Amino acid sequence: MRYDRGRSATLPHTTFSSGFSSVSEKYLASKFAPESASKLMQQSEGAQPISEYFGELTFGMGQMREKLPREAYQELLRFLEQGKKLSSATATAIAQVIKEWAVSKGATHFCHWFQPMTGLTAEKHDAFISIQHTNHSELKVIERFTGSQLLQGEPDASSFPSGGMRSTFEARGYTAWDPTSPLFIVEGSLSRTLCIPSVFFGYHGQALDNKTPLLRSQQVISAAAVEFLKLLGDVDAKSVSGTLGVEQEYFLIDRAHAAARPDIIMTGRTLVGAPAARGQKLEDHYFGAIPGRVQAFMEDLERELYKLGVPVKTRHNEVAPSQFELAPIFENMSIAVDHNCLTMETMRRVAIRHGFLCLLHEKPFAGINGSGKHCNWALANDKGENLLDPGTTPHQNLRFLAMTSIVVKAVHDHADALRASIASPGNDHRLGGNEAPPAIISVFLGSLLEDIFRSIEKGEAAQATEGQIIDLGISHIPDISKDYTDRNRTSPFAFTGNKFEFRAVGASANVGVPMTVLNAAVTATIREATLRLKKLLAEKKSRDEAVMALIREFITTSKGVLFSGNGYSAEWRAEAKKRKLPILDTSADALSVFGDAKAAKFLVDTKVFSEEELASRYHVAIERHVTTLEIEFLTLSEIIREHVIPAVEKQLTVTAGVATGATTAELRKAVGGRLQAIERVLAELINRVDEHELALKGLHGLETAEEKIRMLTDTVTPVAKSLRAAADSAELLIADEHWALPKYREMLFANVLN
Ligand code: ADP
Ligand code: MG
Repeated sequence: MRYDRGRSATLPHTTFSSGFSSVSEKYLASKFAPESASKLMQQSEGAQPISEYFGELTFGMGQMREKLPREAYQELLRFLEQGKKLSSATATAIAQVIKEWAVSKGATHFCHWFQPMTGLTAEKHDAFISIQHTNHSELKVIERFTGSQLLQGEPDASSFPSGGMRSTFEARGYTAWDPTSPLFIVEGSLSRTLCIPSVFFGYHGQALDNKTPLLRSQQVISAAAVEFLKLLGDVDAKSVSGTLGVEQEYFLIDRAHAAARPDIIMTGRTLVGAPAARGQKLEDHYFGAIPGRVQAFMEDLERELYKLGVPVKTRHNEVAPSQFELAPIFENMSIAVDHNCLTMETMRRVAIRHGFLCLLHEKPFAGINGSGKHCNWALANDKGENLLDPGTTPHQNLRFLAMTSIVVKAVHDHADALRASIASPGNDHRLGGNEAPPAIISVFLGSLLEDIFRSIEKGEAAQATEGQIIDLGISHIPDISKDYTDRNRTSPFAFTGNKFEFRAVGASANVGVPMTVLNAAVTATIREATLRLKKLLAEKKSRDEAVMALIREFITTSKGVLFSGNGYSAEWRAEAKKRKLPILDTSADALSVFGDAKAAKFLVDTKVFSEEELASRYHVAIERHVTTLEIEFLTLSEIIREHVIPAVEKQLTVTAGVATGATTAELRKAVGGRLQAIERVLAELINRVDEHELALKGLHGLETAEEKIRMLTDTVTPVAKSLRAAADSAELLIADEHWALPKYREMLFANVLN
């Protein structure tokens, strides 16, 4: 199909003929939202209070308690809290109430919804129906859903990545209901499907997904923290869990524009494209008025998410044009991870309805900000108290300081694994750009907390303005949150008042992966702290003194990871090198950490991964990376050969004609210069694309994925970069009518016009 720039997808029946007669006409596509969206806009008057429909498509423990017989509910609780097996009678009873609810909500199908190592979610739908034979040997269709259908599924697992694990065992994979997360119903255009949040594992129980290790990490951090808290004097602590609030950034572009860009369709990002004159120079988009059509999308999206029980709280424009952000209220980590997956799916689906394509790629456009996902992380005890909150009593303050020093040490000791946990092809383009946190993992504490830490390290009292710190403990910490009005936006891991924010996570990532590694790192350090504190308690006069001694030791050994300056600066790189912090610029460097037995030991010691699972993840990640780059490079070649070179050739013919027809020496000279520039860029394009393809061919001679990722990163990537540079300079020499690809200015600024 020849692309009618920016129109074919949303306006198939447009009365405009091919070719744009004016700049404003080109933007017309984006002014027309499809019918459903405009209807929605009309409906927005007198909206229903959110509380009235929040969670109406979910089924969680509250409803279980209400609907199940008491004993069945008690058994479910034991299953949930102690991992006791469910009897088949109880499983049947649970399946029954779920089915009744789901059918009453109009669901006709169910599926086990899980998070394989592709980083996406997967589902296989089955209808609720079953055939029953009547007395007269007629067949009758009934709605049926059994306990075993709820508890376990067996999708054809062979198409999901296993990193070689299954070939050594069996090709089978199983899904099992994860009752810690509520069930939910997803609305398709004609039917509704009950989704059963599940884990996915192999025949011998090895995790094949991202959820199982996350749940394990939540369990081990709880056990470790409870033991540590007991030493601190919190003897009644029962459990501790990670809490998570994910700020999700994304781009919205017109679907018609996207359809005309093979790179966006194939790779989710633009592989060529000269920057728009305006770029984000004005920085007027950030927190600016939300364009009407985008606002309609957001309202529609939020309505869907509220029904699914996702507590979306904020929406705003982001820094780059056509970039936006959504953030929910934080929740228990495993639910927050499910909700983020569900949010991404829903965003993509709702965007289509509004004539948009939602881009979750980390770097869809060169030269302007990419998209990340700030993971706000803290630890809460079973009373709901945040262990990273300075609190109001001296005891809470001491606990706060102990926990923050543990987190700092965990990040210090496992910075390389944390860097590996966020490695992805997309994030390689984003990290270290002058917009996203650098690839060097450091911690920002803010000046107040840093001062307090420094004083503790020196064994002095800190000169805090509103509070006082005594020799052994802190009786009152001044309002920490006040210190965070001026935040360091360049830090990948920042303390923000009562939580840490892991900001280097990519927008498209399954946040379960970095959160699992973070939980495991903190667990390992809490265990270390527990052992050390036991010794110190025996040596010191009082508990406070022992805890302060522990904090002091931890600060002393891990202060090298603290950095409050400009993370983008060259000085920081040099300084980080001096401090021996890991500098892992590319995924090829970072992922190898998972293949390094020493660096990854804590993941196995904490039992979050088995050695075999870790090895498989390492392979899956590298292989996926290689495949993604291959697709990008092949697509780049295609675009250059099918779009860019022919456009330059057309321009060349036209300009050569002008040169030939020129009657004045002045014009001959001027056009001659232009002609030369076009010829130069054409030669450059042809030579570079040949070079690029030749480099790519080198892949076939390589055997291991490690060799391939290195080659693609070190050899092909630089060639691809110069090829792109040639294409981008060509774009600026070519008449708009010859350039078939929607331009940056069209894709990025079209939304602002309506
Ligand atoms: P910003 O970082 O933009 O200032 P907020 O501080 O309001 O925004 O919060 C950002 C995210 O952090 C929200 O999702 C919020 O719910 C979450 N958050 C707040 N407290 C916690 C916590 N204790 N644990 C995890 N996430 C939290
Ligand atoms: Mg934030």
